[in-house]
Amino acid sequence: MSAVFYSSGNRLLDALPACDMVNLEHDLTIVPLKAHQSTHSIGRAITYVDFPIDALVSVVALLMNGDTVEVGTVGRESFVESEAALGSLSSSRTSFCQVQGLVGRMSIECFVGRMDTSVTFARLMRSSVRATLFSSQQFTVCNAMHSVLERCARWIAMTADRVGKPQFSLTHEFLAIMLGVRRASVTEAADQLHQMGAIDYSRGVVTFVDAVVLEGIACECYKASKEAFVASLIY
Ligand SMILES: [Zn+2]
Repeated sequence: MSAVFYSSGNRLLDALPACDMVNLEHDLTIVPLKAHQSTHSIGRAITYVDFPIDALVSVVALLMNGDTVEVGTVGRESFVESEAALGSLSSSRTSFCQVQGLVGRMSIECFVGRMDTSVTFARLMRSSVRATLFSSQQFTVCNAMHSVLERCARWIAMTADRVGKPQFSLTHEFLAIMLGVRRASVTEAADQLHQMGAIDYSRGVVTFVDAVVLEGIACECYKASKEAFVASLIY
């Protein structure tokens, strides 16, 4: 396969210029992840970074009482353990697969080597970190100001973008953890989204029915975060 025409399936990597795509397929190991499979653990040395292709990875904070709260999701717009682009040697958060699928895994030696030898690669990776930081700030606003229905629509629309497929598995329980609300509130919001024609939700499987309706219900944070990641692909 010609390196010039190689496509990894990860939007960040595929935004690289042709010269940075050389040997990229050799630097990535395609790894299938199952739902709930751990990818990185807090405090452990970072030995690889993951570029999702159609998997969705949750980054979570573990509280002292044992509760787990999601602080971010990563799909094909970015990569897992983006702090490696800022020089971090160990994981500051725990990450696990939320929606099963594939990731392109790159060893940390290879990643650091590319950061050190390609200005464009380094710039793109750091742009992705900036978009992640912006989104984290936006979602702090979101949690404080927007309704469960708006946030639920925002999360599902974001997830559909990030996994690149119209159907994915997601339980009410997990969605409740991710939104930081009671399970009953998620059930109510999912029912409303279904009645409004935005999604189908059956036996833990979400099916994206109408993007326009869903994005119309989602709060402004959906568009703000999406635009930040689109901007991060320009070098
Ligand atoms: Zn919001």
